[in-house]
Order: sequence, then C-alpha cells, then structure tokens
Amino acid sequence: MQIKRVRLTGFKSFVDPADLVIEPGLTGVVGPNGCGKSNLLEALRWTMGENSARSLRGAGMEDVIFAGTATRPPRDFAEVSILLDTDAGEEAEVVRRIERGAGSAYRIDGRDVRAKDVQLLFADAATGAHSPALVSQNRIGAVIAAKPADRRAMLEEAAGIAGLHVRRRDAEARLRATEANLERLDAVIADTD
Ligand code: ATP
Repeated sequence: MQIKRVRLTGFKSFVDPADLVIEPGLTGVVGPNGCGKSNLLEALRWTMGENSARSLRGAGMEDVIFAGTATRPPRDFAEVSILLDTDAGEEAEVVRRIERGAGSAYRIDGRDVRAKDVQLLFADAATGAHSPALVSQNRIGAVIAAKPADRRAMLEEAAGIAGLHVRRRDAEARLRATEANLERLDAVIADTD
C-alpha cells in the first residue's frame, strides 16, 4: 500500500484545505516548533481509525476540529482524506469526518463504512493508527531513551496490528462454520420437502 496524498480540512491547525503529496520512499516532515508536524501525523492516524482522543493530545474527539484563533472563528467539522494505491494496484480514497455534536463517520470511495472496515483495510496492509511506520518526533527520542521495559511496551503497542489480523482470521473461521451450517440446513430442508 502506498499513500499518495493526504487532504486536510479543518483538522487541528489545518483550518484551510491543505494537500500533502507523498512520493514513494521515506517521507520526513520538518518545520519550526508548532507549525503542525505532529498534527499531520495525527491526521493520518485519526483517519486510519484512531479512537483514543488522548493519544491525539485531546480531551475529547471533537478537539481535532479547528478551535479558532484570535483572528479566525472555529470550524464545525474536520475532514481528512487519504488517497492510496492498494496492493491490488487500485486507487482508493478513505475519508473520516467529524462534526460538532454529531460524531464521526468514515467513507471508502464515497461509500459509508464502519470504523472497523477502515481499521481492517490498513491493518491488512500492515500499517494503521498504531503502525510503527508512523514515527512522531517524541517517539524517536522515546525509543532511544526508553528503559528496556518501556521499549517493550512500545513494541507491544505496535504489535496491536497483529491483534487485528487474529480477529480477522477468527471472524473468517466463524463465517466458514456458519456457511457449513447453512449448507447442512439446506440439505435438511431439501430432505423434508
Ligand atoms: P513541535 O515541533 O513543537 O512538536 P509541531 O510542528 O509538531 O510542533 P503541532 O504540535 O503539530 O506542531 O501543532 C501545534 C499547533 O497546533 C499549536 O499552535 C496548536 O495551537 C495548534 N492546534 C492544535 N489543535 C488545534 C485545534 N483544534 N484548533 C486550532 N489549532 C490547534
């Protein structure tokens, strides 16, 4: 999976629509303190299904909506779109939008989907909101300076992705068992006809 473009509207400090084009390879974001580097990374994690406001440095999820400045009024919604090339070679657009008082919603290619669908899409590509591929600047320092036990906790957090894979395998096994039951039921119904 390759992320090609991130479009932010009203997300944290990105009040005006902003496009970030991501070229193949490693991408680094540099800039002065407070310019929005971490907000950008948080926008990616939020769109991938991050549901902990605290891990996005907020008290509640609506804190991701532009809160206003001395010169600009607050916004009513925030929206982030991730345009990507899937491993199947197709383009897909994932959008998450949050409105004040109305919660957040996800779309894939314009279709309404559940948070879980988006989380699975990114988990299957071994990326996602807790992916070790997204490294914020405090995390680099934290990984280097961490005590072994803390470093292990970070790795375990990254391994959360494995949990999603396992849940998917479990769900597929349950689906297969249910399909087998349905086939047996069909056979019984055919016998009684
Ligand atoms: P540093 O290098 O200091 O870590 P940074 O480039 O990572 O900075 P961010 O932490 O991404 O910067 O951005 C911080 C800025 O975003 C602050 O000016 C803060 O006021 C602004 N900000 C965060 N949330 C909102 C919001 N909901 N509405 C408006 N501005 C916000």
